Amino acid sequence: MLNRNVDVIVIGGGISGLAAAWALQRRGVSVMLLEAAARAGGTIGSAREQDCLFEAGPNSTLETTPLIGSLLDELGIIGERIYANPEARNRYILRNSRLIALPLSPFAFFSTPLFSAGAKLRLLREPFVSRGAADAEESVAAFVRRRLGSELLDYAINPFVAGVYAGDPETLSVRAAFPRLHELEQKYGSLIRGQVLGARERARNLEQSKHSAAMLSFKRGMQTLPDAIASRLARVELNAEAVAVAPENGGFTVTASGANGPHDLHAHAVVLATPAAAAAKLVAPFAPQAAGALAAIPYPPVAVAISGYRRSAIAHALDGFGFLVPQRERRQILGTIFSSTLFDQRAPPEVALLTTFIGGMRQPDLAQLEPDEIADIAQAELAALLGAPAHAEFVRVTRWPRAIPQYTLGHLDRIAQIERAERDIPGLFFCANYRGGIALGDCIKSADRVAHEAATLLGGGERAA
Ligand SMILES: Cc1cc2nc3c(=O)[nH]c(=O)nc-3n(C[C@H](O)[C@H](O)[C@H](O)COP(=O)(O)OP(=O)(O)OC[C@H]3O[C@@H](n4cnc5c(N)ncnc54)[C@H](O)[C@@H]3O)c2cc1C
Repeated sequence: MLNRNVDVIVIGGGISGLAAAWALQRRGVSVMLLEAAARAGGTIGSAREQDCLFEAGPNSTLETTPLIGSLLDELGIIGERIYANPEARNRYILRNSRLIALPLSPFAFFSTPLFSAGAKLRLLREPFVSRGAADAEESVAAFVRRRLGSELLDYAINPFVAGVYAGDPETLSVRAAFPRLHELEQKYGSLIRGQVLGARERARNLEQSKHSAAMLSFKRGMQTLPDAIASRLARVELNAEAVAVAPENGGFTVTASGANGPHDLHAHAVVLATPAAAAAKLVAPFAPQAAGALAAIPYPPVAVAISGYRRSAIAHALDGFGFLVPQRERRQILGTIFSSTLFDQRAPPEVALLTTFIGGMRQPDLAQLEPDEIADIAQAELAALLGAPAHAEFVRVTRWPRAIPQYTLGHLDRIAQIERAERDIPGLFFCANYRGGIALGDCIKSADRVAHEAATLLGGGERAA
């Protein structure tokens, strides 16, 4: 091949690309990361203003895999990690315009006013509902209706899906979006039985279920993680958008458009760690089917409104993680995180900091309104639901035009197309949140897997790991 610059070029400096580049570098592979924006981190974005910490993207993540702790250790930032306050355990769900805490124990479940007696009895029948077909692709809504009944869909799963994916359970594929649920049904014949028996298995693998994993952030916010990785990578180019990728002579030429105009870089392997639409454009000339599959992954818009109030002016105790809004309640927001309760040092003690999510698959138009209009919606809803004053002290709005990939029906076929391209074109890898899960821990796991595969292909394997 042409004189190569590095072994691997990673395109995209969100957590997926950063973690993949880091995992390659520590395996002794020479790697260069290209990031189109002026800073690394992608969707992660923390800023401190007015003595408050604003998180425009993820506020926290769950420590579902030991890889997160190892990564923080390697980067020397384990001391920066903080865990959620114990009082943030409560999660509220809106029902009949009232916030009701989600029950945290079986006893609380049977006494909660959140679900009717009929819905509770229906849950007891779950272990006796027969298995769905192993290879059928079913929506999350159909799966939940079949196993748990429609009230649990409306008042537990629908708001949960809005909180995680900004998604719609009617369009998400249960096997793709919640593979664990599908697995529990297939393996144990019941979610309840599987939850109990599966816990023993996870304990053996040192993995944590999303239900029991600790929630973490950093003293200075989530941006600590991408900053730490970017500063330890030997070769990072910011403001460098990859505009073309061409497989040639057993390797790849990547054309990057930077401050000094376009330039070509050569490598044995390429990791595409951009959102799906950007990856689709780059591979369209030589992997049109994978490009078509990537381009078909929907990403709805989400707006994030972070508002600050005098704590004493809000009627609600804010004693929890926050609240989620079921679609049936017909409100204009998906939910709100009580950010100043969740972690210490997010705001001065007299300030309540609230992070409200708007739009998603449910109401995409709202996320595209002008920032002032989005701020008005957030304030009006927080006044109605939390007893907050009509006007916040400040509101800061971020709009993500293409926020979160949706693992909709057909997603597994799309991923199969992407895997086919990886098999057909050795050295081509795809690693981003449209595959293997959207949470940061999932992205870190996927990045580690891709780094292992790329290092093995290059003959390095685990040599420096
Ligand atoms: C509002 C919001 C809240 C969230 N909350 C949580 C949460 O609480 N907990 C959690 O775990 N997860 C959360 N997530 C999900 C999580 O943040 C994302 O799944 C994850 O950060 C995605 O990382 P990524 O690297 O795959 O993609 P991105 O972060 O999208 O990174 C892709 C990068 O590629 C770059 N790029 C694109 N095209 C090119 C190109 N041609 N050349 C070079 N670079 C390019 C982009 O500039 C970007 O930096 C949230 C997401 C959103 C939007």
